[in-house]
Amino acid sequence: MSAPDLAEAAQQLAREGLVVGTAGNVSVRTRAGLVITPSAVPYEQLTSAHLAALDAVGVQVGGTHRKSSEWRLHLALYQARGDVQAVVHTHSAAATALAVLRRPIPPIHYAMHQLGGEVPVAPYATFGTAELAEGVVAALGAGHAALMANHGAVVVGESLAAALERARLLEWVCRVYLHALSGGTPHVLSPSEMAAAAERLQSYRPAPP
Ligand code: 13P
Ligand code: ZN
Repeated sequence: MSAPDLAEAAQQLAREGLVVGTAGNVSVRTRAGLVITPSAVPYEQLTSAHLAALDAVGVQVGGTHRKSSEWRLHLALYQARGDVQAVVHTHSAAATALAVLRRPIPPIHYAMHQLGGEVPVAPYATFGTAELAEGVVAALGAGHAALMANHGAVVVGESLAAALERARLLEWVCRVYLHALSGGTPHVLSPSEMAAAAERLQSYRPAPP
């Protein structure tokens, strides 16, 4: 995964409205540690020259701009989860609305299998702190997405593309859940209904007829 890919991914998130201003951050795992977006640089200005390279304990070893304030969160996720190759943190609107309600998202749609099922809410802690990182790692468990109370959301992926896709899917699910809540009591899929969908999804891909 190259640095231009990461800068392009961050700009793509901004174009899609999933991040605004300087909110949110993106990283990928590297052999030495991770590469992460810089702190407080607006997405429209962000290029690969702004990215910060960190070693395995989070010390900045490359880049001319200061590492994201959420580097502890990203590092903790890579340390806790060997399968994670990319992390996307956003303040996307619908996900943040549910994070403000501190409302986990139950499995209301089969597509949530791609998020790891129910989406938990990590406890509130000040942004950039080790306490926040620990709370998110604990809430996420083996899942792929978590809300962060009164803050935003985080998704992880086995590739940068997978993490971006999950950030989009999470925001869509949150929009659906909010709409559904405004019209009544949403029905939740049972574990066996989710398992049946998961089985089908294994072969859901483009293929010759
Ligand atoms: P950075 O600009 O430092 O990445 O911080 C943005 C953010 O979302 C903090 O939680
Ligand atoms: Zn944030």
